[in-house]
Formats: sequence, structure tokens, C-alpha cells
Amino acid sequence: MASRSESHQQIVERIAADVRELRSHGVPVHIYKGGEHHFVPLPGDARFRSRPIDISALDHVLSIDREQRLAVAEPGVSFARLIEQTLAQGLLPIVVPELEGITVGGAVAGCSVESMSYKYGGFHDTCVEYEIVGGDGTVHRCSRENEADLFEMIHGSYGTLGILTSVTFRLTEAKPYVQLEYRTSRTFEAFEADMRAQMAAADVDFIDGIVHGPDQLVLCVGRFVDQAPYLSNYRWTRIYYRSTGERSEDYLTTRDYCFRYDTECHWLTKTVPPLEWRPVRFAVGKLFLGSTNLIRWSRRLARVLGMKKRPDVVVDVFIPSRRFRDFFEWYVAEFAFYPLWIVPYRMPQPYPWLCDELVTRQNDELFIDCAVYGKVNNHPEVDYSELLERKTHELDGIKTLISRNHYTRESFWEVYSRPNYDAAKAKLDPHGVFPNLFEKFHRVS
Ligand SMILES: Cc1cc2nc3c(=O)[nH]c(=O)nc-3n(C[C@H](O)[C@H](O)[C@H](O)COP(=O)(O)OP(=O)(O)OC[C@H]3O[C@@H](n4cnc5c(N)ncnc54)[C@H](O)[C@@H]3O)c2cc1C
Repeated sequence: MASRSESHQQIVERIAADVRELRSHGVPVHIYKGGEHHFVPLPGDARFRSRPIDISALDHVLSIDREQRLAVAEPGVSFARLIEQTLAQGLLPIVVPELEGITVGGAVAGCSVESMSYKYGGFHDTCVEYEIVGGDGTVHRCSRENEADLFEMIHGSYGTLGILTSVTFRLTEAKPYVQLEYRTSRTFEAFEADMRAQMAAADVDFIDGIVHGPDQLVLCVGRFVDQAPYLSNYRWTRIYYRSTGERSEDYLTTRDYCFRYDTECHWLTKTVPPLEWRPVRFAVGKLFLGSTNLIRWSRRLARVLGMKKRPDVVVDVFIPSRRFRDFFEWYVAEFAFYPLWIVPYRMPQPYPWLCDELVTRQNDELFIDCAVYGKVNNHPEVDYSELLERKTHELDGIKTLISRNHYTRESFWEVYSRPNYDAAKAKLDPHGVFPNLFEKFHRVS
């Protein structure tokens, strides 16, 4: 019987052969990884009309090295399955995106942020090596030492440069529980000062924030602990994000802490109010709640009821911390959707996929991820998705591409580095088997 790594190699060779085959027919392709996607479905979305390259068999953890605190996983492994295996050895990936179904490959090629990001950046910043199948069917092994230019460009390439087939990443020691402290500020100034103070504190492991309203800004500070006097459970009838506005402290298992936002998919359940009613959750919660269920049901309903021309706004924008106050004042006055998720994010070094001029203007290593989940966008005169993108651009911020995008080709490459992207594309996908980054996110027929 082939070992896991032998069958891994066999699958990678099969995928490489498929890519070469389709390239020889000049057929554009997209990556089929199985499971649910974590981006907003758009009417007339052309992204999945090309031929699929099926990589769904790549969904295993290949190794966990406790000594080295390193793990190797195939891209289709969900973080829920991954941490089950790492926690069994008292370890945790350093950045664990909050939704159970997000995969290792999607977190690298797309985006990822979590409450350790204030120290470590995104999940990809904790990675040390990628195995990639290029658009010409060549298999690359790249790292900061080998083909470093390609290694650094894979993050945020959204499947337009090549196919990740395995990822090696660092792990950290984990304790069985997390003690949570909710620190409420009534003003932005007090909140920002407290956030910066907690970021400097040595005994803190996790920091994020929930803005419940302009005068109720809650900083959620987490610490690993070995014992817990009690444990709360938000996986069924109780609602996590609300608890942060009602309590000053809480205790969760480390697994439940990692996925504390999963049951409501942050607070997307707000868009279907009965899903926040206790009796309804008691009766049918298991069927409808949980990010994978919610995303699956929203896709099914969209097929039956038709998709909104302007889906609700669901997007993360990373604002240079020096402009956080400007953003927040604008947000309260012009956007005013709550809760707003706040995650401090330290960029270990300027990402080479960002335009040099933008990096110079940003002149900041700390960014504040301000995430909107579910603002209805049907105002006759205002397109809130476009409004948020424009404001982010004005403040030299970065918007994730998971939702609607309104850039012109010029404004897009004022954010993304065209020279670095084209150089990576020429090496990894010289024949353009995968769509170009701008085209992939601006092709809606
Ligand atoms: C409602 C919602 C809530 C979210 N909340 C969070 C959050 O709390 N924290 C967070 O970090 N992120 C969050 N995200 C963003 C999400 O993490 C990213 O969109 C992530 O990229 C999704 O990964 P996925 O595994 O679901 O992959 P997909 O959504 O399927 O793919 C994401 C991108 O990666 C590419 N890709 C996937 N696998 C591979 C591969 N093997 N090789 C090359 N390219 C590949 C795809 O082509 C696609 O462009 C959220 C997104 C949504 C829609």
C-alpha cells in the first residue's frame, strides 16, 4: 500500500499531467478544490466557467514534527481538521482563520487574518515552503531560500499563478483553554490606546475587537491557560459575538476559541433574524448554523431565488494604522454598519505583490483589518461596496478581493505590483493557463 507521501506524489504528477494536457489544447482552467469557497457569489460570475483542475484529493495532513514545530499539509485540508491533529500534540498553527471550512491552500493563495496576526501577520507569513504545479505542468518547491521571488508572490495570487499542492508551516505551543477578557471603551481614542497597550503586553496571546456601535468598542484579549473554572459553548443556542458586548470575561476550549465566529459566520446570521432566535437555533440550529452550512444554504437559495445584483457587503479592508482614526470617523459617519470586526495585523515585511509606490505611502508595518460582514447594499444612490473600496484606496489601504471589485485596470495596478506579478506569471504560468489577477476579479458578464 502506497504511503501517504507516495500517494501525494502520484496525485501531484496526475495534476501536472492534467495541466499539461489542457494547456496543449489551449484551454483556460480553474482550480477545483472541493468543499465550499469563501468568497461572495456574484451574479454572472465567469470564474468557474473554465475547465476545472480537480485537486480535491489533496486534503491530508502529511506530517507534524513536534520537535521542529513544523507541519506539512495538502492544500485542501480545512483548519478544523488541521487543528484537530495539531492540538492532539499540544500544538496549533500560529494563525488559524475563524471559519472551519477555510483551507490551508485558500488561506495562502487568498487571504487570512486572526487574533495572533498582531504579532505574526497572515497564515502565509508562518509558512516556510510551498510545492506548486505551474501552468506549464512544472512542479516547483519554493521557499525564502529557493525561488524566493515565487514564494513571496503566491500569497494573494488567488489561484492565478499556479496550484499549491503542499504547504509547510510553523506551529506554536498551545494550552487546552483560552481565557478571554472583554475591555469596553466608549470612545475611539480610548479603544485605540488600549489596543496598542495590550499589543505591547507580554502575557497576551490573542487580540481582536468588535465594534458594537460608535460608543461601544470591545477589545477581546485572549490568554492561553491550563485550567478553566468554567467553559462556555457557542456552538448552538448561544451567540458568541453578542456575548462580547454583555460579559467582561469568558473561558473557551482552544478549539472553540479558534472557531468562536464559525456558528454565525461572524454575524451573517443577522441577515436571517430567526437564526438568532434561541428556540429556532435549538430546533434547527444543527441544520443551518455553522459557516459551511450558512454558505452552502446561501448558494442554494441564490440558485432558487436568484442572486442579488448587489450582494450584501462582505469584505476585509486593511488600513495603515496611522490612518485608522480617519477611517473610523468616516465609517461612523458614512457607513455605520455594526458589528465591525477589528484585527490588528503586523506585516513582517512589505509584501512584494504590493505596488512599491503604495508601500512607500503606507510607510507602516501595522495595519488594522476592518471587516464588514453583511451590510445590505440596496441604496438607490450609494453603492456601499464601491464606497468602501474608494475610501480604502484613498487611505492607502488594501481590500481583499473576495467580494465585488470596482477597480479600473489602472487603479488596480496602483495597489498590486504589475512588474512583480508579471515576472512571477512569466515563470510559473508562461502560457496563461490561469486567468490574470485583474481579469479573474473583474470579469462579470
Ligand atoms: C463570509 C466570509 C468570512 C470570512 N472570514 C474570514 C476570517 O474570519 N478570517 C480569515 O482569515 N479569512 C476570512 N475570510 C476570507 C477567506 O479566508 C479567504 O477568502 C480564503 O482565501 C478562503 O479560503 P478557502 O480555503 O475557502 O478557498 P477558496 O475560497 O475556495 O479560494 C480562495 C482563493 O484561493 C485560491 N486557491 C484555493 N486553493 C488553492 C490552491 N491549492 N492553489 C492555488 N490557489 C488556490 C482560489 O482559486 C481562490 O482564488 C472570509 C471570507 C468570507 C466570504
